[in-house]
Amino acid sequence: CGAGLMLLLSGKTRVAHVAGEGLSRVMSSLYAAVTEHLGGMKTAKSYGAEGRHADVFAKLTERVRHTYIRAVRNEAGLNFCLEIGSVLVLSLIVYVSFEVLAIPIAEVLLLLFLFARIIPRFSTMLRSYQSFVNLLPAFTTVMEMHARCEAAAQPKAGRAEQVNLQHGIQFEQVSFGYQDNGKPPVIWNLDLIIKAGETTAIVGPSGAGKSTIADLVTGLLVPDQGRVLVDGLPLSPERMRAWRDQIGYVSQDTFLFHDTIRANLLWACPNASDEEINQALRLAAAEAFVSGLSKGLDAILGDRGVLVSGGERQRLALARALLRKPSLLILDEATSNLDSENERRIQGAIEELHGRMTILVITHRLTAIRGADIIHVLEQGRLVESGTWDALAAEENGRFGSLCRAQGIDCKVAGDVLHFTDPVLRN
Ligand code: ADP
Repeated sequence: CGAGLMLLLSGKTRVAHVAGEGLSRVMSSLYAAVTEHLGGMKTAKSYGAEGRHADVFAKLTERVRHTYIRAVRNEAGLNFCLEIGSVLVLSLIVYVSFEVLAIPIAEVLLLLFLFARIIPRFSTMLRSYQSFVNLLPAFTTVMEMHARCEAAAQPKAGRAEQVNLQHGIQFEQVSFGYQDNGKPPVIWNLDLIIKAGETTAIVGPSGAGKSTIADLVTGLLVPDQGRVLVDGLPLSPERMRAWRDQIGYVSQDTFLFHDTIRANLLWACPNASDEEINQALRLAAAEAFVSGLSKGLDAILGDRGVLVSGGERQRLALARALLRKPSLLILDEATSNLDSENERRIQGAIEELHGRMTILVITHRLTAIRGADIIHVLEQGRLVESGTWDALAAEENGRFGSLCRAQGIDCKVAGDVLHFTDPVLRN
């Protein structure tokens, strides 16, 4: 009887599975919409688009409601069928026992007792199976994501090796593409040398692959072809941890916590003393503004650092990177968001660091790299020109020259060099 009931109710199990799949899909769309809305709330309001966002949210919640009701209705239907089915089976047993088989009453009572014990267990089993089938799609999604993360995970290092940047970083015929976007490789057969102790600049239009190079240098991305060598040795998992400890990274988007300046700086180097903190602030041209705050290093920065200006945030990010005393400082469009005064302050700080450490400046703004030892021009993932500012500026019809002209810079004017030792700028 149980097997018969199960067979009859197999349709409901299929519905539970489909409802589970639908619920999984619609819930992930809902989370994505909520995250997007919260991230872009200011833009949405300024475009008067919040109504449209609310509509999208309403549509998605409506779909969640529908799918959920369908699942619950299906479950209630199953319970109903089970109850009715049990009564029918029970009646059938009683009828057949008395009328057809003429079984004595004592044995019928025993049969009924067994039936009463077994049927609730059977119903529980069927209901559990249905919830299992309903939740299976969500579980499958999690397992698929787990497999993707495992496949992309950084290989575990057997033992840690030390890295001390002495000679430089070398890209050997490196190609890299973000596989899942179906586009050609972002970096293509790249040969590049970043010499230790020098300031190397990589310039080029947006989308040329400059930030991808920074990620390849830090080992966050692994080349599809070719090798990234640090002092002649590949970036193996054993060397990765020590290598990243040597890097100070400042990007366009500063990442500051809702905490004191001191806590934000110590995050990068927990054991740093106040003296080291002040030295890093001085190098980043941030000492004056921090000491001007009533609470100094103990001033709270607010959520994502909103209580200080964009330029001050950027200088704190630079100080944080410098506190680690990195061998390699990577500045990825670090001054692109700033007004010219703040840009000059940060450039002044960077110029002060010239020669003290290896610096990799990635930017599309050419004024930021006037003091670099070598400039590489990148276009569509390929190096199209390399040389000093003067050598590149001297090239007739060169790519660098046309980039300068596009930005209104006369690259041949020697006076274009920024003199960062100017004390006014440094403060
Ligand atoms: P740049 O720093 O020169 O502006 P990027 O290195 O950021 O260029 O990006 C180069 C190309 O790679 C762009 O076309 C960009 O759309 C693509 N890209 C960057 N990051 C990703 C990613 N995570 N997934 C897919 N494509 C990406």
